Amino acid sequence: MSGLTRRRLLLGGGLAATGALALLPWRAAFAAPAARVGIVGGGFGGASLARYLRRHDPKLSITLIEREATYVTCPFSNGVIAGLYPLKDVSFGYGALHAATIDTIHAEALRLDPVRKSVTLAGGKTLQFDFLVLAPGIDLMWESIEGYSPKAAEQMPHAWKAGAQTQLLRRQIEAMPNGGLLVIAVPPMPYRCPPGPYERASLIAHYFKQNKPESKIIILDSSDAFIKQELFMEAWNRLYPGMIEWIPGSKSGKVLRVEANTMKVFTGFDDYKAAVANIIPAQRAAKIAVDAGLDEGTGYCAIDPASFESRRHRGVYVLGDAAIAGEMPKSGFSANNQAKACGRAILAAIAAKPFVPAKLLNICYSFAKPDYAFSIVDGFEVKNGTIQLSFSDHRTTPLDAGDEEHRLEAESAHSWYANITADMFG
Ligand SMILES: Cc1cc2nc3c(=O)[nH]c(=O)nc-3n(C[C@H](O)[C@H](O)[C@H](O)COP(=O)(O)OP(=O)(O)OC[C@H]3O[C@@H](n4cnc5c(N)ncnc54)[C@H](O)[C@@H]3O)c2cc1C
Repeated sequence: MSGLTRRRLLLGGGLAATGALALLPWRAAFAAPAARVGIVGGGFGGASLARYLRRHDPKLSITLIEREATYVTCPFSNGVIAGLYPLKDVSFGYGALHAATIDTIHAEALRLDPVRKSVTLAGGKTLQFDFLVLAPGIDLMWESIEGYSPKAAEQMPHAWKAGAQTQLLRRQIEAMPNGGLLVIAVPPMPYRCPPGPYERASLIAHYFKQNKPESKIIILDSSDAFIKQELFMEAWNRLYPGMIEWIPGSKSGKVLRVEANTMKVFTGFDDYKAAVANIIPAQRAAKIAVDAGLDEGTGYCAIDPASFESRRHRGVYVLGDAAIAGEMPKSGFSANNQAKACGRAILAAIAAKPFVPAKLLNICYSFAKPDYAFSIVDGFEVKNGTIQLSFSDHRTTPLDAGDEEHRLEAESAHSWYANITADMFG
């Protein structure tokens, strides 16, 4: 018997035993209590799921636990760093969720009990659910680079969680001298938003070209290749010749150590004195999921590819960056899509009905300058127990595309962003 069914029976028994049943109108007496869904994390995965569930079931009890009162999106935050628009343009409140009777609690979820499906909040309150969903994103592995720490990040920002770090990196870029060196350290895979560091380099180059044309960007990469590499390199040659240098892992690109007080960045063979150092360390699923053992020591959480239910604990689901989602990249688009697949699975479980796994989609836009973007469209399906790329749904902006095509891609990226943030936050 599921916890939900058991709870319904217990509640019915309690009412009958006290004689309260006779006092209730018949519909209320026999109506089952609404299932309780608890969601930890109100970002791309969590906010999308909460709104999806509410759209499909007006009675469901939905609780969203999110530490921040304002969510700042990482998508489009590279434009803030390049000075294209202010942080407020990528910041969203939870008013529409409150209005939709989603119980939005702004508190730190300190720990969870995946067996009881309960969450204990900072302050000690424990909430219990019938379905528990984790969409807490990633945490940074400070220890992956010697000398890097939350304190060092005040000199050498990662800006890989949007907000204060985004603004800090922006301020440093504005303050650096013309001719200064900006270093970007790219972590090993898997990390959130694989094209993000290269888009960041491109948009900062756009700012440099107009304001600090003698400045240079060095990308120190842990890997030997990157997504959309040819498209990025084509754009760099076309728009910023000689300004961006990319050093792959096998040519001593991997950053091993930093010294925040001297602004030095060390690889195996070389060291660089940076005017600004954007150090992005390795990542894993956020602490709340790791502490509960949902990652089983691997750093990310294994899930059923159709429902996103944890492989480790029934009735607990993991979405977005924290999950191992087969060939899907860690992106906001993916997290939003996964939320809907997971939402369908939860609604089917509540109704005790089977469900057909959804097809999943990710469209990944990158900007090289404000009116020059390109994209990859990828469809995914559940196959052989995992999420696999379905090549028939694959499209990439071609090399040699003209200015008009890149301008249309940029327009399309803006419209994607407006739509997805409206889907999440109203
Ligand atoms: C520079 C950059 C650019 C990007 N650009 C794009 C893009 O163009 N397109 C795209 O699709 N993706 C992009 N991404 C990736 C995208 O931001 C992530 O993949 C996406 O945010 C993942 O969603 P999520 O719900 O898993 O995690 P998040 O969106 O990070 O949400 C997790 C939430 O959980 C909360 N939380 C965590 N732990 C707790 C706790 N214990 N208690 C309470 N709350 C908690 C956090 O505060 C956070 O709000 C970009 C990322 C970066 C860094």
